[in-house]
Amino acid sequence: MPARLNAGPTPSGTAEPRRRLAVPEGVTSRRIVWDYAITVAFYHLVALLALTPWFFSCAGLIVGVLGITVFGTLGINLCYHRMLTHRGLRCPRWFEHALAVLGLCCMQDTPARWVAVHRRHHEHSDAQPDPHSPLVNLLWGHVGWMLVQNSDLRRLGIFDRYAKDILRDPFYRRLERGFLYPAIILLSWLAFFLGGFAGRLLAGGSPAEAAQLGASVLVWGVFARTVAVWHITWSVNSLAHRSGYRSFDTDDDSRNNWFVALISGGEGWHNNHHADPRAASHGRSWREPDQTYFFIRIFSRMGLLRDVIVPNRKLPTLSDRPAPQIP
Ligand SMILES: [Zn+2]
Ligand SMILES: [Zn+2]
Repeated sequence: MPARLNAGPTPSGTAEPRRRLAVPEGVTSRRIVWDYAITVAFYHLVALLALTPWFFSCAGLIVGVLGITVFGTLGINLCYHRMLTHRGLRCPRWFEHALAVLGLCCMQDTPARWVAVHRRHHEHSDAQPDPHSPLVNLLWGHVGWMLVQNSDLRRLGIFDRYAKDILRDPFYRRLERGFLYPAIILLSWLAFFLGGFAGRLLAGGSPAEAAQLGASVLVWGVFARTVAVWHITWSVNSLAHRSGYRSFDTDDDSRNNWFVALISGGEGWHNNHHADPRAASHGRSWREPDQTYFFIRIFSRMGLLRDVIVPNRKLPTLSDRPAPQIP
């Protein structure tokens, strides 16, 4: 999606009154999307087990925290968002699919669905057709939008308009039907459990101790981590369209929010991103650290990524604007 910057010497970018928005027209009734609602509730409930003594372990905690970077930063930020949605970089097909599997394990739907919804967000940011503008209300932008039916987001319709390029790849097409997507999720659960189980057995533990560590690594490494990555991604949609500073006068309410940037590995520099969506780096200076771009640079040096789009330095920032004339 091209950048959409407003022209003219005003406005300031931070002091405009906040608009209120109605839900998208496709939300004609508040019918619950039960498979999403049950999945979100189930993951949150199981994640709470991580706080109980039987399920706690240092290994589980470390796996969960590292998993936020491995699955969230690489799978969602780098692959789903910056590579597949905005084509800000390219890589060999095998590496792209490996990163996409990490994204799948975040339970944020298939690559084609994620890309289509996000491209629609960029096309209509903070206008009524935006699937998840927090100008409806903060909770709607954070999670509510995905829990009720929205006919604007019916798969075939938005795939045709926004995700044809993704679905030319047979792997992404296969993920849309059959059991490949749930099979990958279930295999990841098994891998986390077996990792903890085998690790404890190899360290001389009993089968019961091994089962306990396997359960701990499963709860921390899958459920607590998935819930954490959900709220991080959702915060970009909600908080980074409500609070923070604006460097560019985009025709939406996107903001650069340092807190969201910190927890999301750079995705919180969201006003920069809306102004220059194809740029693989969302931070524009050393004051805006971008952990995802750090990994992009490492993978580029290893020869795994190419055609990395750099930020457009010619875009006019709000500070470039001439000061308003006082009569
Ligand atoms: Zn946005
Ligand atoms: Zn984007």
